Amino acid sequence: MSDMDMLKRLAGEHEARLVGFCQRLIQTRSMPGEERDAARLVQAEMKDVGYDDAWTDAVGNVIGVIRGSGGGRSLMLNTHLDHVSAGDERGWPFPPFEGRVHEGSVWGRGAMDIKGPTAAQVYAGALLKAAGVSLPGDLYVAGAVQEDVGGLGSIELAKTVRTDAAVVGEATNNELRRGHRGRIELIVRIGGRSCHASMPEKGINPHYSLGAFLGGLRDVELMEDSFLGRETLAPTLLFTDQTSANVVPGKLRLHIDWRTVPQHSPEEICASLQALLDASLQDGAEGEVSVKEEHHRTYTGEERDVPAAFPSFVIDEGDPLLEQSKSALREALGREVPVRRWEFATDGGHLVAAGIPSIGFGPGDEALAHTNQERVPIAQLTEAALGYAALALRLTAP
Ligand SMILES: [Zn+2]
Repeated sequence: MSDMDMLKRLAGEHEARLVGFCQRLIQTRSMPGEERDAARLVQAEMKDVGYDDAWTDAVGNVIGVIRGSGGGRSLMLNTHLDHVSAGDERGWPFPPFEGRVHEGSVWGRGAMDIKGPTAAQVYAGALLKAAGVSLPGDLYVAGAVQEDVGGLGSIELAKTVRTDAAVVGEATNNELRRGHRGRIELIVRIGGRSCHASMPEKGINPHYSLGAFLGGLRDVELMEDSFLGRETLAPTLLFTDQTSANVVPGKLRLHIDWRTVPQHSPEEICASLQALLDASLQDGAEGEVSVKEEHHRTYTGEERDVPAAFPSFVIDEGDPLLEQSKSALREALGREVPVRRWEFATDGGHLVAAGIPSIGFGPGDEALAHTNQERVPIAQLTEAALGYAALALRLTAP
């Protein structure tokens, strides 16, 4: 029996265990900064199914390894441990942390973003071990902390697990993805001088500068990528330093969400907004544009300042990583696997920015992410585990 036939048979035989693991992951809440129990669960499962080693790093990422026999390339299968809030639990068809199986899908918060993909990646290693397949290169399977709040975990992984390539498991309906737009959150600060609103001439009201700035935003130059499409920008949150309506504010803070393409650096984006702001300031107001920085603490107690900047990336159409992945999946899944872009940003941007070429492959429908209809079809889970095992075989070959 060929390695691939063996893996296909084993994928079917492991389905019940894979689903059970996915359910236990959903039952283990893991909001950003609270991933300890989920990390322990993943680490224990990796050891249970025969990984050569499994550990957590300084920031709490969980990493398992299946060591290669030598001479091959290394590969990282990458997902994250955290999930977004379940919101109002009464809006869910089933309790969001129950992991209910209904009509062939596992339901719950994190089912496809991203505990289903995590389970499938962990079980790819299980299938390879059960099949007795020896990989030429090292296979790392990593669950990163804090993806949903800036990607601190994968930024750390990209420094410590320097693989030759990575497969990011965010949902693709088991298709391939070769890039996405990035996201930068910018903060525009305008400072004037506060005063009583009955004597506005005594102060400097920053609202007039903001008005001119907002009026010019529609004319800011946006770049376009032939694969990713056009950049977008949207002013979102707005705050003043006052809570009374009879006071002229001294400070304004506007947040801008900018979806980026690789051709446009955060520095250039900041500079173009700063130029618009400089031209918009009135009456002696001052202003500054910067990329938002957030301070995060991990469950292990590590603290980091993380810029709210998720890089965009594109892997070229003819790139060998993509070609080999397509052919490995075609052989394993018995069908042609389309290659598209993700509409949202992922940790893949951090990995590519750090020099680790990455592609996307994962079970689940990306349109269900962060909704109360979140679920992952069991057939896709099992197929994804097989797909990851096939990708590991091909992408660790010399
Ligand atoms: Zn995700």
